Amino acid sequence: MKVLVTGGAGYIGSHVVRQLGEAGHDIVVFDNLSTGYRWAVTYGELVVGDLADDAAIEAVFRAHDFEAVLHFAANIVVPESVANPLKYYSNNTRNTLNLLKAVERHRVPYLVFSSTAAVYGMPAQTVLTEDLPLAPINPYGASKMMSERMIMDLAASSALNYVILRYFNVAGANPEGLLGQATPEATHLIKVACECVTGTRDGMSVFGTDYDTRDGTCIRDYIHVEDLAKAHVMALDYMASGGESEVFNCGYGRGFTVREVIDVVREQSGVEFAVTETGRRAGDPAALMADNQRITGKLGWKPDYDNLDVIVSTALNWERIWQERRSGESR
Ligand code: UDP
Repeated sequence: MKVLVTGGAGYIGSHVVRQLGEAGHDIVVFDNLSTGYRWAVTYGELVVGDLADDAAIEAVFRAHDFEAVLHFAANIVVPESVANPLKYYSNNTRNTLNLLKAVERHRVPYLVFSSTAAVYGMPAQTVLTEDLPLAPINPYGASKMMSERMIMDLAASSALNYVILRYFNVAGANPEGLLGQATPEATHLIKVACECVTGTRDGMSVFGTDYDTRDGTCIRDYIHVEDLAKAHVMALDYMASGGESEVFNCGYGRGFTVREVIDVVREQSGVEFAVTETGRRAGDPAALMADNQRITGKLGWKPDYDNLDVIVSTALNWERIWQERRSGESR
């Protein structure tokens, strides 16, 4: 398929581009390089542009006859979204609208959208199904929920088919060390812990030890980025073979506590980096795990990396590579 990948130079997008390239798809990446990198685009053509720019979007859609759009480009930092909500409604929601206008004008049949478990907010249950009510508790989650809704409404009024993927906690890196999370000022647990190992950070905090979980720290469903990338490739195949528009959770359906994750990073690295126990971070539910029956059943998706040791070892391997490389890298 001829596919447009927005945000294809970023962490998740770049892993998906690689798998799409390996599967023989013809790829155009559209990325403003705000957090992504040229080197991360390992297949296809990179068009540097911004989804706020309608003319730039139109130009790329005119130049190519896309059969599918995979839309990753977004800001993803929850605390930043609380401090600067309009950045999120602009870059995530409004720019998705801009993209959808082009999708409609050019009658692109298939769309895969990067959504998040943050659309569920603070649910009462710990294992989440896709049909739970959406109740995001921060602008990031709301910006994605609103984008989902626009996609669903456009699909209802046109021939567009979509797959919305709600990501749980994405971590890990390409096992050959070719790609990984290179975003500066990352806030996600496994990335932060790996930066402590390489000395990029002096230490880290555990946000809350008084949750009602097995060790008092929050439980999350960590999914390896290569398994998540595979779900995108399968979503395209699913739609191309007539699959109906659908929303899928992307997670393994099991979880690890913050302490368990930190212990694995310390054990694997042998580095006893400093860990400070601090108070809860606002808006953190005690435990979140994906019910993944829908994606395993309808897409036939099966994980290859459902193993915290593998997630951490690939993340650590990448962090060491990136630590060496990044001083000489430009976007
Ligand atoms: N967390 C932590 N210290 C950090 C970063 C994260 O204790 O430096 C905790 C956070 O409070 C949450 C879990 O790790 O319970 C996962 O957080 P992350 O930001 O990675 O992802 P989220 O679940 O918020 O999407």
